[in-house]
Amino acid sequence: MNATRVLVLNSGSSSVKYQLLDMRDASRLAVGLVERIGEQTSRLKHTCLSSGDTREQNGPIADHDAALKAVAEELAKDGSGLDSPELAAIGHRVVHGGMFFTEPTVIDDAVLTEIERLIPVAPLHNPANLTGIRTAMALRPDLPQVAVFDTAFHTTMPESAARYAIETKLADRYRVRRYGFHGTSHAYVSRETARLLGRAPEDVNVIVLHLGNGASATAVRGGKCVDTSMGLTPLEGLVMGTRSGDLDPAVIFHLQRVGGMSMDEIDTLLNKRSGLFGLCGDNDMREIRRRMDEGDEQARLAFDIYIHRLKKYIGAYYAVLGTVDAVAFTAGVGENADFVRAAALAGLEGLGLAVDGARNAVRGGEARLISPDGARVAVAVVPTDEEMEIASQTYALVGKDSRGN
Ligand code: AMP
Repeated sequence: MNATRVLVLNSGSSSVKYQLLDMRDASRLAVGLVERIGEQTSRLKHTCLSSGDTREQNGPIADHDAALKAVAEELAKDGSGLDSPELAAIGHRVVHGGMFFTEPTVIDDAVLTEIERLIPVAPLHNPANLTGIRTAMALRPDLPQVAVFDTAFHTTMPESAARYAIETKLADRYRVRRYGFHGTSHAYVSRETARLLGRAPEDVNVIVLHLGNGASATAVRGGKCVDTSMGLTPLEGLVMGTRSGDLDPAVIFHLQRVGGMSMDEIDTLLNKRSGLFGLCGDNDMREIRRRMDEGDEQARLAFDIYIHRLKKYIGAYYAVLGTVDAVAFTAGVGENADFVRAAALAGLEGLGLAVDGARNAVRGGEARLISPDGARVAVAVVPTDEEMEIASQTYALVGKDSRGN
């Protein structure tokens, strides 16, 4: 039997998201989530897509090992457990691959050591990713396990975009540079945008706006990232749900010296209590829209700050690329909030950028153009699919072996 299935695992500190895909026809067989691992109120929700069955388990799941075993049991109930001969590989999302990992990589001891060495630059994410990998490897030591890095797509950034203007020796010693994140999404969306335009990725320049709870913009020239808004960590760049994005680094000194805050408190403030949430108390764009419609000034100001920053990045990346073929919106806000798309591009007609009102208002799960006919720059809405991208990259790497050629 051909092994054509890939299990995609996205392990967070207290959660595991997973999808089982069959790469023969790029179909999704199962999706699920284990959350609140380590608490009394853990929950596993599993959906088998062929039967449409959804099952839920509530009750304590002690650790990632128990979580993955529970996931394996659910998959086995659908006839596609971890021991299935059809399973070709497990693809793991790994947030930080530093400069070292430019491609998806089959995991061995050396790879694990390198991911571990990157923990100081990704203290929240890489330890959780590693736990997921180690647990999966213990369950199926014989199966290829592949790491797909959020940073990999950005390793083509030139040094002029990747370096901060600080002392070089110090930057090198502590690996302080701009790495960028959401790379799997930016790679997928920029390629899908080229496909939508009927052109090869190598022939188009795209500005990708990944606007979810986390948000980042990327300038993609001929299929390769040349600049991105997130930096050493996912804190830099756009205004996000709860992250501040860009600010003068002196704000941190000021809060410490004058506000008496500790570094940990400032870290929490900028990552968890800033952005839209910090500005108006809500980080969900739907709620902000509702409040704006009721005349809420605070929500309006938060929205205006969000849009102002977004516009600045569109302009900056237009200048970086010189020629732009398309601007693509993706992720929760980018795919669903027509008012954000319209506001972000309002007044940019001089750059050849415009949104057709009727097209922008259409809702749907398919990639689509929302610019007027004959526009100089295409504007697209492209639903992202990070799991499919991780599965495709994983299968491309191991599929040949499992097909026996
Ligand atoms: P993500 O991180 O990509 O899952 O995006 C999550 C965010 O998308 C939420 O916090 C909302 O702000 C936003 N979102 C989801 N659905 C809608 C919608 N229908 N309209 C506006 N914003 C939405």
